[in-house]
Amino acid sequence: MRYLILSDIHANWEALEAVLRHAAGAYEQIVCCGDLVGYGADPNRVVEWARAELAAIVRGNHDKASVGLTDLEWFNPSARDAALWTEAALTPENLHYLRGLPQGPLSAGGFQILHGSPLDEDEYVVTAFSAGHLVPYLESAVSFFGHTHLQGGFLCRRHGVRPLAGPLDGEDRLVTALEPETVYLVNPGSVGQPRDGDPRAAYAIYDPDAGTVEYRRAAYSVGVAQAKIRRAGLPDLLADRLALGV
Ligand code: ZN
Repeated sequence: MRYLILSDIHANWEALEAVLRHAAGAYEQIVCCGDLVGYGADPNRVVEWARAELAAIVRGNHDKASVGLTDLEWFNPSARDAALWTEAALTPENLHYLRGLPQGPLSAGGFQILHGSPLDEDEYVVTAFSAGHLVPYLESAVSFFGHTHLQGGFLCRRHGVRPLAGPLDGEDRLVTALEPETVYLVNPGSVGQPRDGDPRAAYAIYDPDAGTVEYRRAAYSVGVAQAKIRRAGLPDLLADRLALGV
């Protein structure tokens, strides 16, 4: 079984569609590490797709915030505006689905998915130092997380932790062969709002039988997603940043 690993889609339908086209034929099941909505202008379309297509998902902080499960005081102003806009835009069925999403970590057939860290779904795991401290709390050799919108993650061995990275500009895939005696905390990157300087939608393909994780990037119509954000009256910043990948 090969898995399409997605995270941080953020109601960006154009990016999601491009990923599904780019990944066609490379996977059998789809899982998501959270943040279906927030920031982007297509929450209903993305949630309806998720309800029909995902084999497993954990909730993200924006999924919680958009259905009234979080105190929005912790959000910056544009994220708060987007959460309130999203809550008003969502259909009752889609609100209900988001409200019921499980908190990670979640076991998904031999590996785990989580949004932030195994200890705190809202924690940003950015440094090798913090990743190393989380190893005792991971229940499988391979775990997928999101939240930081940075493609890569960490490879953890007894004597050290090393950051992992996705393909360089100009390349659209990079295969990482998984090694024994190693714990992997893999971030597929963000589909709908990458923040690693590469505006292309990010995702990963996990093949447990082959023992590989493939990091991938797919170009998409950023201009269309931006126009929808502006037309919806969402903060301009949320459209601007998509072109820069920050
Ligand atoms: Zn996110």
